[in-house]
Amino acid sequence: MSSVKIDKEKCIGCGLCESMCPEVFELRSDGKAYVKNPSGCKSESCNCKDVAASCPVQAITYEE
Ligand code: SF4
Repeated sequence: MSSVKIDKEKCIGCGLCESMCPEVFELRSDGKAYVKNPSGCKSESCNCKDVAASCPVQAITYEE
């Protein structure tokens, strides 16, 4: 069972995760990213491993 999490303390709200994978990540009005659909990491269009590696502050944890 895979899981994807965001450390809200680390997130700087850059929006990269949402732009890479909008079906999973969502930037909300508090300026932090949220996981809205963790099962989206299994889809063709989204590679949560890449998104986690691309976050500039390593706020995303993805376990396959
Ligand atoms: S890529 Fe990282 S820092 Fe940027 S919004 Fe997503 S979780 Fe936050």
